[in-house]
Amino acid sequence: MIPARPRDRLYAVLTLVLAVFLLPAAFLRRPGRARELACRWALRMRFPAEDLTGLTDGALAAFTAARTRALWRHGQLIGLTSGYRDPAVQQRMFDEEVRRSGSPASARMLVLPPAQSGHVKGVALDVRPHEGARWLEEHGARYDLYRIYDNEWWHFEYRPDSGGRPPRRLPHPGAGHAGEAVTQP
Ligand SMILES: [Zn+2]
Repeated sequence: MIPARPRDRLYAVLTLVLAVFLLPAAFLRRPGRARELACRWALRMRFPAEDLTGLTDGALAAFTAARTRALWRHGQLIGLTSGYRDPAVQQRMFDEEVRRSGSPASARMLVLPPAQSGHVKGVALDVRPHEGARWLEEHGARYDLYRIYDNEWWHFEYRPDSGGRPPRRLPHPGAGHAGEAVTQP
């Protein structure tokens, strides 16, 4: 298990303080959802480059609810490093990984082609930092958000059809599509 970096703890505390500070303004704007809104504002300042567009409505709502609770209830920050990806972008990432790793089969240990990627479907969320990912691993089921792969602590997927039970965790992304991998030239 990787220990939390002091810097990440500090960011989490500062973001929570900021959210508390913003709460009155959020309450004026949306009385019923002030905590969620203040949390969103504070997270936007902490992660200004974050891009939530392209996620499905369900995935976005689940992620928003989860990170709101993480911050208010447990003082944990959850940032998004990568959510929705355009198919062309995913293809480029896959091609690069094929070049880097030497073969399509080994590339699939880390990156899937567009047709199989949860990122292209808008249901996959790569998060940071470690502590936030650990929180999501522990509490994500409540929001149908699950860690899917042993080798990617940062990758979560929105799986509302799993009936509240974690889907079977796979060793790596390619393991879920082993049969299809064989057809790759
Ligand atoms: Zn991912």
